[in-house]
Amino acid sequence: MTSPASGASSAADLPDYAPIPRSALGPALNDQGYYVGRVERNLYWVTDGVYQSAFLTTGDGVVLFDAPPSIGGNLRRAVDEIAAANGVSNRVTHLVYSHHHADHAAAASLFGGDVVRVGHEETRRLLLRDGDPARPVPEVTFADRYTLEVGGERAELAWHGPNHSPDNIYIHFPGHDALMFIDVVNAGWVPIYNLNLSEDVPGYMAAPAIALSYPWTHFICGHLGRLATRDDVSVHQAYIADIQASAQEALASVNPVPSYMHYGENAWAGVKAHLGTVTERAAAPIIAKYTGVLAAADIEIFTTTTTFLIMQSLRLDRGPSGPVHP
Ligand SMILES: [Zn+2]
Repeated sequence: MTSPASGASSAADLPDYAPIPRSALGPALNDQGYYVGRVERNLYWVTDGVYQSAFLTTGDGVVLFDAPPSIGGNLRRAVDEIAAANGVSNRVTHLVYSHHHADHAAAASLFGGDVVRVGHEETRRLLLRDGDPARPVPEVTFADRYTLEVGGERAELAWHGPNHSPDNIYIHFPGHDALMFIDVVNAGWVPIYNLNLSEDVPGYMAAPAIALSYPWTHFICGHLGRLATRDDVSVHQAYIADIQASAQEALASVNPVPSYMHYGENAWAGVKAHLGTVTERAAAPIIAKYTGVLAAADIEIFTTTTTFLIMQSLRLDRGPSGPVHP
């Protein structure tokens, strides 16, 4: 049972955070809770303030890129609004999946019928595994590269290895000066827990440089309320590089012996004490440096969990994890 009084007291217990830098926020949403804007020419992006998707209007119909369920029916409204304003067809003919995750794809089934779904072959495999009727599997798949041409417009899809997910692809719009690449860089904000819930740490850390190797001015990053710039990607890279350097320093300088001595035969308690000390020491200067620069940098668990994963990757992927016993 809830009451206004108990709701008020629990809200009062919630912590306060630094104000969001104005530069991290995007345009106002309309009464239906979305914003649709032109990226360039006939390429548009849609946001609900937290998620983003995109679409191309062409002479042969509309190509959607991702269908986040939080935008859901507003994606249809955004397409209809733009198609009507420009006197072009609102018929969605193609849907491209950036990756298989439900939070970017689970409105896909709203666009049923004869829509051609395109995605990486690993996206197809993972969607067959997951068996979610909200995310029909792509019929058109590719391994490394695929050129999608519809109505004289072009999107270049490419897979450059696992990063956030095993199947996350780069979607380049050479005729629109734009790149869409989801769930690695958040424009103006820190990644949430564990490098934005990423599976491959070295792949995640290398991905922004791959994104920057493409020519583009506009970057559709999948989250929050505005498009990203090349500067946003650079600031994200600096944040991650600072975490890596700080984790390296903390791993080298924290003496593990007292933690293990203290806990004796409880080896896992020693591990927790040692790695906890390393993580706290590595994350603290990053949180201080980026508060006010990247929104939500002061939500400490985001940077702390990201630092933990990078520190583990330094040990386990790069090595050495420690000295070899003589
Ligand atoms: Zn994802």
